[in-house]
Amino acid sequence: MKKTVRTRIAPSPTGFLHLGTARTALFSWAYARHYGGEFVLRIEDTDVARSTQDSVDQILQAMRWLGLDYDEGPIYQMRRLERYNAVIAQMLEAGTAYRCYATPAELDEMREAQRARGEKTHYDRRWRPEPGKVLPPPPEGVAPAIRFANPVDGVVTWDDVVKGPISIANREIDDLIIVRPDGVPTYNFAVVVDDWDMNITHVFRGDEHVNNTPWQINIFHALGAPLPQFGHVPVILGDDGQKLSKRRGAVSVTAYEEGGYLPEAMLNYLARLGWSHGDEELFSRRQLVEWFDGEHLSRSPAQWDPAKLSWVNAHYIKQADNDRLAALVVQQLARRGIEATADEPMLRRVALFKDRCATTVELADWVAMYFSEPQPSEADAAQLTDAIKPALQALADALAALPAWDKASISAALKQTLQAHGLKMPQLAMPVRVAVCGRAQTPSVDAVLELFTQAIVVDRLRKL
Ligand code: GLU
Repeated sequence: MKKTVRTRIAPSPTGFLHLGTARTALFSWAYARHYGGEFVLRIEDTDVARSTQDSVDQILQAMRWLGLDYDEGPIYQMRRLERYNAVIAQMLEAGTAYRCYATPAELDEMREAQRARGEKTHYDRRWRPEPGKVLPPPPEGVAPAIRFANPVDGVVTWDDVVKGPISIANREIDDLIIVRPDGVPTYNFAVVVDDWDMNITHVFRGDEHVNNTPWQINIFHALGAPLPQFGHVPVILGDDGQKLSKRRGAVSVTAYEEGGYLPEAMLNYLARLGWSHGDEELFSRRQLVEWFDGEHLSRSPAQWDPAKLSWVNAHYIKQADNDRLAALVVQQLARRGIEATADEPMLRRVALFKDRCATTVELADWVAMYFSEPQPSEADAAQLTDAIKPALQALADALAALPAWDKASISAALKQTLQAHGLKMPQLAMPVRVAVCGRAQTPSVDAVLELFTQAIVVDRLRKL
């Protein structure tokens, strides 16, 4: 019988959900869903000093926003210490792990001497029990670290789902510390026990972990545990060719949520960073799951491209329901201290502007003009010349006299004013926009005016 595919994402809660981790989560999730498997969320919180609840909350919120639903979890490593201790006890017993009493000062001295001899620094296995070797008695008052007794020869080999076959000679690998002197297990050990206990069949993770995998494979073997398949996903590079980082702009999923991106756009865009399905650029969550079979994962780094993300987001904004966009715009306006509701006029405003917006922040920029006094730039304000003011006042009167406030009536009032003053449409429409909207460029002026109240439009024109 074939094993159920089980994947996981295992973020460390030491900050927000990084885009790179979100992409790995997305791949792991899509892979599990494609094969009808299960996806697990594990919180790797063994770095006690740097892990925070706030970070856990942000990670959970970002996963929810992206729609990466998990079948198990969140499972916290710090709640599994008993289990790790039990495994350590077995390993000490079996001789696949041992206590090392070397102090940091002694280890420094050891490395110093190795450097002086021109050797690559490594742990010299001084506390590793070996046949015929007599170990000194454990020193008083030194809490030992526990090290993994890595095989001394042979080669570790695996067929990476992304990178293909990889081999590392064991002689290149030190006896790794698996429990620190304070009793907390280290990443490379806890991750193996967890992936084993949680029956993980496929481990997708960032490239930066590829050097850890040989240790982990050796620990799996030492525990007699079945190996998962590993897939190491290349890094994401910023515009400057450097690894995407905080210094080079927003790297948290939450920042993109706040920046007015839609989760389906983010999901679509992230999926294309290091994976492809033919030439497809725009696809739904359902299509992604249908196509994501573990093939066509790129071996080379992906390039973060804000312009493409904007393009993808603009596509989804155009497609989104007005109700949903109105609710998002209301949230964006609230951030600016503007109180609004997703009422009928709001729905119509959203419908009018959404085609020209790449984000809901841009959409809120448009809609904000309905809630604040116009503040035209100096250049725009220059259009409000003394020569045009009589026409604007005549238009105000014509608009004030309208029995119905709709696009057709507004348009008729505009035409009537044009004729009476011998003007062409742009000569009147531009200053009207500046006076009422505070900007010279908008969609068709009658459509924009219609979504203000009659009183506000008349008032803004008369005030000039
Ligand atoms: N906690 C590790 C990280 O966030 C997990 C790596 C892994 O998936 O094994 O990088």
